[in-house]
Amino acid sequence: MGVSNHLPCNIEDVVDLLSIPVVRSSGTQLHCRCPFCDDRKAHLNINLSKNVFRCNRCGTGGGVLHLYAEVNNISINTAYEELCRIFQSGEKAPEHPVRKAQTKVKQSKPALELASVEARDNTYSNLLSMLSLGTAHRESLLGRGLSGSEIIRLGYKTTPAVRSAKIVTELLERGCDLKGVPGFYVDEETGQWKLDIRATGIMVPDRNCEGQIEAIQIRLDKDTHSKFNTLTSVDKYYGATASCCPHFAGVTGEEDAVYLTEGVMKADIARYFSTVLGHPCAFVGLTGVSNINQYVRMLEELKRFGINTIKVAFDMDLHVNENVRKARDRVIQVGCENGFEVIPKRWSSNYKGIDDLLLSFIERRRITDSIFGRL
Ligand SMILES: [Zn+2]
Repeated sequence: MGVSNHLPCNIEDVVDLLSIPVVRSSGTQLHCRCPFCDDRKAHLNINLSKNVFRCNRCGTGGGVLHLYAEVNNISINTAYEELCRIFQSGEKAPEHPVRKAQTKVKQSKPALELASVEARDNTYSNLLSMLSLGTAHRESLLGRGLSGSEIIRLGYKTTPAVRSAKIVTELLERGCDLKGVPGFYVDEETGQWKLDIRATGIMVPDRNCEGQIEAIQIRLDKDTHSKFNTLTSVDKYYGATASCCPHFAGVTGEEDAVYLTEGVMKADIARYFSTVLGHPCAFVGLTGVSNINQYVRMLEELKRFGINTIKVAFDMDLHVNENVRKARDRVIQVGCENGFEVIPKRWSSNYKGIDDLLLSFIERRRITDSIFGRL
């Protein structure tokens, strides 16, 4: 199931190609001098049946592609292309600058470049379609004011607790690309793909202006220093760093203005409440109020929609939180510089977020409905 499955060569071919000195051979294993550290013996173990390698001295290890990529100091994609050219088309191995043996033990693990938006959307959509929403999470979302059908429409799911191997197998069978999709990485020992679930919670798809899922936010069950995480496999072997996008909720291009909030879930909930209250509004949620790159990307996307007005609806703790206040001022300044009308919104500080404010209107309407009856 590793990335080496469709390669036209095995690990022994690559050891040959790279002229790695073989010190001993046991038939199923080669013991070589490691090219990644100043190994003087035979610490590099090549497992011929599993097509994996590992140095017991410096810890470098992986599959066929990783070996070729690491020795030549090239990306895994380039390694794949070159090996196909060499072993399928019989081309000569391209010259790479000789990589010096490292005297220091290598600390950082090889990482993959972020997969394309299409690949991430496809993998994440398939992943979420395989998962369900646990009862406790459903109850807590209903408690926040969402309806059962809205929860289904939003596609929120519970993080998988076990059997991540089964999920990965199914994703690969469905033809999903896991390379460079944050949350997935290669197990160093087995060369198998794995899903990196670091904490349990509700998985919230972060959708771009075209509805594609670029990232998955996790509303954590246990509030540590933050309420949300992003699904990531950063620092894992052949993992990828998460990259969130401006989250568009209910933006169709028909509107003149959007409301700007902090967070994906907040934008979803606020959009739903505005619809229930009979004033459907478009929302964009940023995953960090001070993430100016994400904000600038949003401005460009709004321009394409022909939307020129931004109503800033950040949490009302900006009175007490200096960082939030500074971020809001920056958002207003940059928005104006880019030709937008930027209107800061204020409400009673009894309600922290725009979602809390809108929920209070819904609750009040329920009370008046119960007293006077609905028309
Ligand atoms: Zn080594």
